[in-house]
Amino acid sequence: MTTCYQWFSFPSEFSVHCPKCKSEARCCKTAWFRKTEDWGTTDFIISGQDAFEGHVSCLKCSFTGRIAIHWPQDAYWKCEVKGKILWAWSLEHAKVLLSYIQSSDRDEKSYPGYLASLLHLPTHFKLASNREAATRSLNKLITSKSLRKHH
Ligand SMILES: [Zn+2]
Repeated sequence: MTTCYQWFSFPSEFSVHCPKCKSEARCCKTAWFRKTEDWGTTDFIISGQDAFEGHVSCLKCSFTGRIAIHWPQDAYWKCEVKGKILWAWSLEHAKVLLSYIQSSDRDEKSYPGYLASLLHLPTHFKLASNREAATRSLNKLITSKSLRKHH
C-alpha cells in the first residue's frame, strides 16, 4: 500500500506524468476528491486509498481532463531509495528534499514552505545509512528531468 505521508499538506498544484505523452503535466486539486459523503479528505486518508480524481493539464501535448491519479505511481518527480519511493510535488520540492537530506543539521524550519512535508518524511529517507542512496537518486532525478525539459 502507498504511504500517503503528505496528503494533508498537498499543494493546490503538483506534477504528474501526462497520461498521453508522459511529459510533466500539472495536476490541480480543484477536482480532487469526489464530493460524496464517503470520499472526503479525512476518510480518504484513513481508508488509505491510493487513487483520487485529479484535473490534469499538459503543456506539451495540451491534454486536459479529469483522470484517476495513483499516487505516488503517477508522480512526475519520484525516485527509488533502497526499495522505497521518494516523491516530490514539483522540481522545487525535489530540490528541497535533496538539500534537506544532504544537510547535517536537518532543520525543517529552514524550508518554511515545506515544513509539514519534511516533518512527515518517512524515517527511511532520513537514515544516515540511506543518505548517500537518497542523495544519488534525487540528484539523478533532478538532473535527468531538468535536462529533458529544456529540449
Ligand atoms: Zn502530454
